[in-house]
Amino acid sequence: MTQYEVFAIRYGTRAGRYKDRFLGGDAHDGPSSVDYFVWVAVGNDKTFVIDTGFTAEDAVARKRTMLRCPIDTMKELGIKAENVTDVVLTHLHYDHAGNFARFPNATLHLQDKEMEFATGRFMQSSIPAAAYDVDDIAELVRLNFSGRLRFHDGAAEIAPGFTVHRMGGHTAGVQCVRVYTRRGWVVLASDSSHFYDNFINYRPYPTVFDLAEMLNGYSTLRQLAATIDHIIPGHDPLVMNKYPPVSRAMEGVIVRLDVQPTS
Ligand SMILES: [Zn+2]
Repeated sequence: MTQYEVFAIRYGTRAGRYKDRFLGGDAHDGPSSVDYFVWVAVGNDKTFVIDTGFTAEDAVARKRTMLRCPIDTMKELGIKAENVTDVVLTHLHYDHAGNFARFPNATLHLQDKEMEFATGRFMQSSIPAAAYDVDDIAELVRLNFSGRLRFHDGAAEIAPGFTVHRMGGHTAGVQCVRVYTRRGWVVLASDSSHFYDNFINYRPYPTVFDLAEMLNGYSTLRQLAATIDHIIPGHDPLVMNKYPPVSRAMEGVIVRLDVQPTS
């Protein structure tokens, strides 16, 4: 089976509170930041981009700190956006699906349920709609008419050693990615678990559409991965501490996920 090299690129951050990680809060409070990532899986003959991050305009509008352009940063890994043929959108929230226009030659992989959700009745409610950018969604509808979207319904193998799995919970169609590496299967949870604390302690994140699916998703993540250390949460600053940077210059920016964590 193809072994992929897998990287996390940290492109944004936001100051937050520890209690905001959990539905119902937490008695222990203190500052805790939220990091924003995109991920890349590089195989022998195929490169996958997993999520495209928020745009500079989103950062201003939503008061997030954009540390660097996630797409330009991929050049550090030798990846040119115009050459990428496959992009997985784990879900369509603004911070995961903001820059897809930078990939004019890519097929965009997403779950049926996520597109239904982002274009359906629940977007009439400000709570589930809040993290979607209507212009992104409208453009994805256009791209669908031109055949650029590839829909998946549940689990699917996109290539040998690279599968997607619908999780639900955070949104109706959020999916995780499981990718085969030199250390076995690595599971990119994206927002099926924002932080390690969510899935390890089985404590739901506050932005939730379906609580049962979110909790079941934490179990599914563990089933898909050999160990907890093979699961990569979607927004946890710990990821940057646990994995080695690709180079001195990229410390705090790009880490390797296909090697064992160092802590
Ligand atoms: Zn999200």
